[in-house]
Amino acid sequence: MKKESKHFQVAVLGGGVTGSAIFHVLSKYTNINSIALIEKCDHLGQINSKENNNSQTLHFGDIEANYSFEKAKSTKAASEMVVNYLKKLGDEGKKMYTIAPKLLLAVGEKEINIFNERFKTFKEIFPDFKKLYREDIALIEPEIVNGRKADEQIVAGYSENGYTVDFGKLAESFVEEAKKDTGKDLQVSLNTKVEKIIKQEKGFLIITDKEEIVADIIVVAMCSHSLMFAKSLGYGKEFSILPVGGNFYTSERKVLNCKVYTMQNDKMPFAGVHGDPNI
Ligand SMILES: Cc1cc2nc3c(=O)[nH]c(=O)nc-3n(C[C@H](O)[C@H](O)[C@H](O)COP(=O)(O)OP(=O)(O)OC[C@H]3O[C@@H](n4cnc5c(N)ncnc54)[C@H](O)[C@@H]3O)c2cc1C
Repeated sequence: MKKESKHFQVAVLGGGVTGSAIFHVLSKYTNINSIALIEKCDHLGQINSKENNNSQTLHFGDIEANYSFEKAKSTKAASEMVVNYLKKLGDEGKKMYTIAPKLLLAVGEKEINIFNERFKTFKEIFPDFKKLYREDIALIEPEIVNGRKADEQIVAGYSENGYTVDFGKLAESFVEEAKKDTGKDLQVSLNTKVEKIIKQEKGFLIITDKEEIVADIIVVAMCSHSLMFAKSLGYGKEFSILPVGGNFYTSERKVLNCKVYTMQNDKMPFAGVHGDPNI
């Protein structure tokens, strides 16, 4: 006789920092009583969220010159939630982040004009973001000024409160904390690959290489793999994925003291060239 599939109210598919955060929030802050999290790797947060697969910046929106005012408002609120979460964990939290100052650099008249406009508007959200001129920049980040032509204008925005976060560890922590004292039916399946999702009359059947489960609601949080599953369910047919190659360049000597972002093309949906003291 076929074993009946276990039923959950919600199944979160993909245990990176996104899926783990959703699992955490649903278990801690909602009345949903049964939640499954399914992850194909043997640990959470091992793909894009893993420490050396991203730049570990907690994006508030002050140095991210491609963020609109509205986007910065929402990323600031979300990032503050992460900071509060990490601080609440005390010493455990300290293992997941470091504080590094951060700087947004504008070079030349065109960039400086855009910077100045932005600086005025964004002051409302980031009142502590300071404007620095060449002499102050030279004190904080000498390598930005050393060797630069004297007539090349530069200004920068500066904040001491930049956070470098290990999102892989954060994913693990979200799930660990979620499982504490809830009295809920929470299942975390590692080493379990989702192979197919079938929409049923009520809810979804999730077929994995280990088990089949049924859920009323699914959250597909598999990063770039999500679109393939969305399409198999009839969603997002108008979208496709454009792979973008990038590089990390490292230095054996210490070059920077801050995370240094540059003014960038607002048509680019991801961060442009930036330098990082901790990679
Ligand atoms: C070079 C680079 C630098 C970046 N820098 C930053 C930064 O500084 N700050 C920042 O906030 N973001 C940064 N990002 C983006 C950030 O890394 C991602 O947005 C984030 O990690 C995505 O998390 P996720 O949980 O959505 O995806 P992932 O961490 O990739 O999680 C998806 C999970 O789904 C699982 N999965 C996939 N398919 C299946 C399946 N069939 N069955 C079961 N499980 C499956 C995977 O194993 C994985 O664990 C950077 C990205 C890159 C590439």
